[in-house]
Amino acid sequence: MATSTIDLTLPYETRVKSALNNAHLRVALERSTGRMAGQRAAAMNAVDGRRLRDQVRQMKEYVLRHLPDLLEQLETNVTANGGHVHWAKEAIDVQRIVVEIARRANVQKVVKAKSMATEEVHLNQALQAAGMKVVETDLGEFIIQLAGEPPSHIIAPVIHRRIEDISNIFQRELDMPPTLDPQVICSAARAALRREFLSADMGISGCNFAIAETGTCCIVTNEGNGRMTSTLPRVYVVVMGIEKLVPTVEDAFLQYQALCRSATGQQCSVYLSMTSGPRRPGDVDGPEEFHLVLVDNGRIDMLAKGYGEALCCIRCGACLNVCPVYREIGGHAYGSTYSGPIGAVISPSLHIEVTDVDKLPYASTLCGACREACPVKIDLPRMLVELRRDVVEEGRASFFDRTAMQAFLQMMQNPSRYEAAGKLGSLGTRLFAALNGGTVKSMPGPLSAWTKRRDFPPLAGRSFREQWRERVKGRKVIGP
Ligand code: SF4
Repeated sequence: MATSTIDLTLPYETRVKSALNNAHLRVALERSTGRMAGQRAAAMNAVDGRRLRDQVRQMKEYVLRHLPDLLEQLETNVTANGGHVHWAKEAIDVQRIVVEIARRANVQKVVKAKSMATEEVHLNQALQAAGMKVVETDLGEFIIQLAGEPPSHIIAPVIHRRIEDISNIFQRELDMPPTLDPQVICSAARAALRREFLSADMGISGCNFAIAETGTCCIVTNEGNGRMTSTLPRVYVVVMGIEKLVPTVEDAFLQYQALCRSATGQQCSVYLSMTSGPRRPGDVDGPEEFHLVLVDNGRIDMLAKGYGEALCCIRCGACLNVCPVYREIGGHAYGSTYSGPIGAVISPSLHIEVTDVDKLPYASTLCGACREACPVKIDLPRMLVELRRDVVEEGRASFFDRTAMQAFLQMMQNPSRYEAAGKLGSLGTRLFAALNGGTVKSMPGPLSAWTKRRDFPPLAGRSFREQWRERVKGRKVIGP
């Protein structure tokens, strides 16, 4: 079985370098992110996008303000519908709860619909360690499971792979004949998955949103795998972050609209599956047991630390598609379940292990494109800056960063030092340039990264302040 394109345990800089040097990854990202960003913009422009965003934002803010009450309401209604609600503080609690449910029900095989929450808590590994077979059924997740890789995008987990790569994986793992025909490739996956659905004992999915007033868990899919996961096996388990709540059915459809338009540029998804409990007498299908696992895993801490705004996220992935950093390095370079701008914000707060997590808030140009694209108007750049502040204030910045910023501070606080530094910079860069045909082609030490892809122009011989002084010299100043 192939291994991940990037080793997620390597240092952040190594992961980024590896991504930038991967020509196939660059092609795959270029093909997909631009298309998805364009489709989102068109779908939002087709309606009053500004109003929709305002409404969703207001609703999500209401949810955060009333989170405890709404969660209790959800629990009451799920229980009244015949389901079971479980509260999981940490990832290990989710693993324990789901493994216990599976053991009690004598589960041998689990089919899963796409769920970032279960990725976050490494649920597959826990179930496999307990002796169960786990099969991902979302096409993208199925492909990366065969390839032995984690997802690299919130809604398009296999975005880092070209169709050529996927064909190779299926030829190797499913004995598919060589082809680049998407229909043939999809048919191979469909045939393999159909067998798994029909023999599975347990279905597990995430939850795009749960409706507090009815106790209904909703999943939004385009492949129908979500519906089969929630209805065919004997036991159905929903794993949901505690923030994925909406108060009413009306609010659910508001979020649904924003999600479909922002995620895939659709007016609505092919399937919206709503489960309010186990099968009732007279129902033609549905699970015998229904369980809802509510996951904290750092979300309450996020609220307490002032990053609660990030809990308004509806996981549409739009911020990833417009981010100039994500579009270059893809998801695996972040080393976290969640990548892109939203991943850089929530990964340091969630209780997940990420190598060099403090570097993630720096994986941004702070251009603001993510905030503009976000259907909930989440101010990601603000939080990225505040996370950088935390790194400095809590003494976790690197020796180089601390020294450089101290030197910068000393220079900026004193006009004489500022001018002296300018003169030194001007002299140094002009000297370098004179030796290299007019521009600085390579800078020393850590500054060398700047000149790897571009020349650095020498600083002006005379600074603005010098020129200004000369200009006003001898002039009478008129004014109060
Ligand atoms: S932060 Fe906004 S744009 Fe990014 S995934 Fe969440 S809802 Fe979508």
